[in-house]
Amino acid sequence: MDLFEYQARDVFAAHGVPVLDGRVAATPEEARAAAEALGGGTVVVKAQVKTGGRGKAGGVKLAHGPDEAAARAGEILGMDIKGHAVHRVMVAEGASIAEEYYFSVLLDRANRTYLAMASKEGGMEIEQLAVERPEALARIPVDALTGIDDAKAAEIVEAAGFDAEVREQVADTIKKLWTVFTAEDATLVEVNPLIKSADGRIIALDGKVTLDENAEFRHPAHAELVDVAATDPLERKAKEMNLNYVKLDGEVGIIGNGAGLVMSTLDVVAYAGEQFGGVKPANFLDIGGGASAQVMANGLDVILNDTQVKSVFVNVFGGITACDEVAKGIVSALGILGDEASKPLVVRLDGNNVEEGRRILDEAAHPLVTVVDTMDGAAAKAAELASSGKA
Ligand code: GDP
Ligand code: MN
Repeated sequence: MDLFEYQARDVFAAHGVPVLDGRVAATPEEARAAAEALGGGTVVVKAQVKTGGRGKAGGVKLAHGPDEAAARAGEILGMDIKGHAVHRVMVAEGASIAEEYYFSVLLDRANRTYLAMASKEGGMEIEQLAVERPEALARIPVDALTGIDDAKAAEIVEAAGFDAEVREQVADTIKKLWTVFTAEDATLVEVNPLIKSADGRIIALDGKVTLDENAEFRHPAHAELVDVAATDPLERKAKEMNLNYVKLDGEVGIIGNGAGLVMSTLDVVAYAGEQFGGVKPANFLDIGGGASAQVMANGLDVILNDTQVKSVFVNVFGGITACDEVAKGIVSALGILGDEASKPLVVRLDGNNVEEGRRILDEAAHPLVTVVDTMDGAAAKAAELASSGKA
């Protein structure tokens, strides 16, 4: 989950990273009040959208006093920045900038480590710098066990070539940013620009934080950071039911057990769909190993509420939960859903106790259910049903 800048700023502040005071505003009047609350001096009005390059897009503007803050907020609110509508701005104390630096730490999946990046030439041209003069952006691997300790912080500021007078302050700040990274279970913490102010202070002027959703059970407080308004309603519903669901934009609803099986199901459906006018998978949904009838019903409920879905492919490989249990689950799920189940279901069962599973489905003879023995055959059937439902 990506945070808004103002949320990242709050998280930074909680861990002692130096930031400037700021308030969120949704209207020009609120922006005026925020500027007044900040003392009536120079402020910066910044679009709150989860994308970079706001400065270049005109989403970051200085304002001298409350009236200008209201005017700048009026210009920025409602802007579209790379497809993100600006609903709120942050009005923050204006900084007088002497130098702009760059710092980030992230999970480097390819190298199975963490990676810190730092440059004394930060700011809005950092992407260009990384391409044209990669040597100006220091890249230092960070061991997960030792992290950014005094020695690692010294190594980073040395590699990035920071001036002697700021080294200690920068090192101290990046150690705190490492604390943010680990204590909050982030996969990315980026500060661009990290500035030296005219009076010589190091301050995080912008913040980008991505939190690891797999760790959210450790962070009940992170629930408050979720942008509920922007979450897809089906994904929200699935989340409430504890389902592992991702909305896609095709027509064939997918339910399977095990992430690997579901991933390959997406592939075979997309492939089969080419024969039927290009129908595609509508979602990823893994109901996991020991899925009960209720979990099957919850999964079907979410998928059948997707108006784009024209057919559903239930692809289950019986393991610990045998096929007969799954078959009973499907039958009772359809019972639970009643009239809400209104789209054709193609079921492919294999694995533990498959004969009994198929017998149960045959016996139930539900009018919406077609049982197909092979995965490819079932994918083709589901795609065909979706394409005829589409027409
Ligand atoms: P981004 O473009 O989305 O990364 O937005 P930033 O928050 O990084 O702001 C872009 C640029 O605006 C920064 O690199 C600064 O040059 C400038 N900027 C941001 N805040 C201030 C401020 O308080 N004072 C001044 N003078 N410039 C600022
Ligand atoms: Mn920035």
